[in-house]
Amino acid sequence: MVDTTKTIAAYYRRSTTDQENSIDRQRLAFQTFLKNSGEYAENAEEFIEDGISGDSSVDRPIQGRLLKNIESGKLDIDELFVASTDRWGRFSTAYKAQFTLPLKRKSVALRTPTSIIDFNKPTDDLLYDLHCNLAYIDNHERSAKVTSGIASKALKKTLKLLPCYGLRREGERLVIEEAQTEVVRLIYSKYLETGSKHKVTEYLNNELKGLSPAGKATWNIQTVSKILTNPKLSGHYVYGRLSKGKLHSFDGTALPQQRQEDLKGKEIRNSNSICSYTPDLIEPVIDLATYGKVQQKLIEKTLPKKQREGRRNKFTGLLKCSCGRNMRARYRNGHPVYACPSGKAGGCNGGEYREHLISTAILEVVKNHLLSGDAEKKIGKILQEQDDVNSEDLVRLNDLENKYKVAGARLLDLESCLPDGFREQMRTLKAEIDTIKARVSSCNAAGVDTGDAAKAMAEGYRKLLNGKSDEELLERDTLEQYIADIQLQYVFQRTGSKVFTAIDTVTIRGSLGYDARKGTTLYRSYVEDGLGTLKVRTKVPLPTYFEPDRPMSFSPMI
Ligand SMILES: [Zn+2]
Repeated sequence: MVDTTKTIAAYYRRSTTDQENSIDRQRLAFQTFLKNSGEYAENAEEFIEDGISGDSSVDRPIQGRLLKNIESGKLDIDELFVASTDRWGRFSTAYKAQFTLPLKRKSVALRTPTSIIDFNKPTDDLLYDLHCNLAYIDNHERSAKVTSGIASKALKKTLKLLPCYGLRREGERLVIEEAQTEVVRLIYSKYLETGSKHKVTEYLNNELKGLSPAGKATWNIQTVSKILTNPKLSGHYVYGRLSKGKLHSFDGTALPQQRQEDLKGKEIRNSNSICSYTPDLIEPVIDLATYGKVQQKLIEKTLPKKQREGRRNKFTGLLKCSCGRNMRARYRNGHPVYACPSGKAGGCNGGEYREHLISTAILEVVKNHLLSGDAEKKIGKILQEQDDVNSEDLVRLNDLENKYKVAGARLLDLESCLPDGFREQMRTLKAEIDTIKARVSSCNAAGVDTGDAAKAMAEGYRKLLNGKSDEELLERDTLEQYIADIQLQYVFQRTGSKVFTAIDTVTIRGSLGYDARKGTTLYRSYVEDGLGTLKVRTKVPLPTYFEPDRPMSFSPMI
């Protein structure tokens, strides 16, 4: 028995897709190594990382703990065993330090069955670097090669597609599965009829009462959604549309991309996928026109994601820049300020504005217009002005509607796979069309009898707001009940090479009864209801550094 034995620990790692490097095989390598050398203390500790890809070098909890223990001295070892160097990590040099520095500091050598790397020896360190980088490049190239092989097969349409609900395989083709096809067609027609995935799901569960694709008694909205968006059902040959792993480029121009941290493990749309109309290989369950109509409806119905719960600033979601975007809050010396997310680079010249400026403007509107003694008269005057239907609006509406029609036609032409950005544009177009339509219709509606409307509105505001303190008027919950949005207009002034901006006017779009829609989305409903809207403009006093006589020599790009 040797008196002074070296201490060692082992680290085994296997990634999700790794067949060759099982934990057992790595353990066997360790045991064989120990037996052959005979110079190590017994009961070596083992650290096992199972199921995380070699690529996500940032997120390996066991390895992280191991390194922490080494660094803190909790784990005092001379050597660390890995079955091969790439088990420790195939990282690019950018990540390397975080995995080697603790070993270097505590003089822990990395041991493989055939070699030993002492990071304090420059040659060892260099060799390790080289090894790591080669493994890293190799891994990426291998994965790109595999993909390009699949991609070329898919392009030639020799890659067999998986069947789906409504389609079954018959030789090289996917053909209609009669029993399921009925249900698929019903889902499509019900959706066109109701415009609601929820209602379609209800119909399936309460009236049709058939089994779901998974063989369960109840359908869920996700299944319905998948059926409504599956291009295969309209005779499209698709590959790589949704991806869970690396983001591959199917045109072979780039190495596979790693995902952003918050997208890991999620199934997301890959914009670089293959999609073409191939009815001879895939028998269409749904005709192209119906499929297109459904896609268009889905886009129209999609709302941006619900804002995450958490701290919400007073005016977040209500405050709009003159360029139309929602302004975001940040803090300067502890004071909340709001700025346009576009910024100068995004073509917006708005600056940063303190919250109290907007608060003051709102209080002014409430006290002088909505709650004053002659509120009814004031509101009536504003409504009268609004009543003059803006002819510009009508021209713009016509123009936008044409654009939307063209976009809809392109959507039907599914030969080309449309990128996500296109859907986004359509959604924005639709939103603008709806806004203008609402504006036009509210003008018309108000035109019937402004006097009655003004009376009702003044009454409504008094009921809601009378007797409230300044703080209460500005409480988020209350704000949402009487304000639809707050739009800012700026003034600019050039002094030498400096351009100053300040808020010129604040336009508050009042809308009573908004609380009914609270909690749906950040995107407010564009359909106006209740008592209609009231636009109140308030001038904001210019800050002292603005010289009012000076001509505004600077024109913003908006
Ligand atoms: Zn802006």
